[in-house]
Amino acid sequence: MKQKRAFKYRVYPTPEQQQMLAQTFGCCRFVYNWALRKKTDAYYKDHQRLYYKDLSILLTDLKQQEDMHWLNAVSSVPLQQALRHLDKAFLNFFEGRAKYPTFHKKRNQQSATYTSNAFTWRTGTLTLAKMREPLDIRWSRPLPKDAIPSSVTISKDCANRYFISILVEDDIAHLPVIEQAIGADLGLKSFVALSTGEIVGNPKFFHKDEKKLAKAQRRHAKKKKGSKNRDKARLKVARIHARIADRRRDFLQKLSTRLIRENQVVCVESLAVKNMVKNGSLAKAISDVGWSEFVAQLEYKADWYGRALVKIDKWYPSSKRCFDCGHILDSLTLDVRQWDCPECGVHHDRDINAANNILAVGLTVNACGEAVRPGAVKTKPGTSRRSRKA
Ligand SMILES: [Zn+2]
Repeated sequence: MKQKRAFKYRVYPTPEQQQMLAQTFGCCRFVYNWALRKKTDAYYKDHQRLYYKDLSILLTDLKQQEDMHWLNAVSSVPLQQALRHLDKAFLNFFEGRAKYPTFHKKRNQQSATYTSNAFTWRTGTLTLAKMREPLDIRWSRPLPKDAIPSSVTISKDCANRYFISILVEDDIAHLPVIEQAIGADLGLKSFVALSTGEIVGNPKFFHKDEKKLAKAQRRHAKKKKGSKNRDKARLKVARIHARIADRRRDFLQKLSTRLIRENQVVCVESLAVKNMVKNGSLAKAISDVGWSEFVAQLEYKADWYGRALVKIDKWYPSSKRCFDCGHILDSLTLDVRQWDCPECGVHHDRDINAANNILAVGLTVNACGEAVRPGAVKTKPGTSRRSRKA
């Protein structure tokens, strides 16, 4: 099946290219913010809706104004794409996936998207519009054979690193259907607990980096505002942030690939459900470990490989319910990691019991839907941490 897939690489632009990119990023940011202001004003002042088409016409006019000539120094394509990005941001907002779009800031990550009419692709070399030389790309993994990029996005992060994300159509073969199914519960003490009894991702993994980060942040705070040393200290903080983000992403990618490869059905609770548990530290833990990013990865990988991801989006007492007999506890505070069922006496690890319940509900939900053949799936409840009391 043909799928759009993005491949991301590190890029080392020449000083000349860096200058062109800085200019392009600046113009994209300007156009995005200008369009956001236009859209918001049109809506609140004139009760009008401006769409991509309208804004595109307004942008052409804008570029003709005398004091706006500098917008013509960069390729017009990324500017148009900035309007597309804004459209997408609004769509995400209207469909409840994101907050109302906000202005792009100079300090944050910068990016510019080029469609195929604004770059040349010749057997592994990529040259952007308004640039003379191809980009120096580190091909850390190969692009699919004969892949032709449909669009590319170049970005610069807060640690001053450049990346290129290349979108290509790719043929991904579905994996053979297997019997395994698994439930995953977001843990507090660990990243995720699986219904097989496995606990993955000790948060101490990031402990060392986090200590370094705290130290760098303290140093940064002590430097005089506006000084060169403060700038240097800021960059150091950004670099550590970037490294933590990289390691986290790497960890999530590996885990999501593994779960999808090893199971026909993966059941999780949606973030909306997770957030129903009103607790400051849990909310922090969720944002820290990137549950939503993880679920998104499971979703597209399931799609690629012909697997099913079941997101449970109705509240269900997954932690408080005994998987063995169905007894539901009146209460179970967050600090209780293990408990014994008063009804049947089984000893539970909190998160693994929850993962088993999530799997059971997920399979019920899935059997009602059409995503997967329910008969092809058997549950394999964990055994490692459960023992019957004498
Ligand atoms: Zn029980």
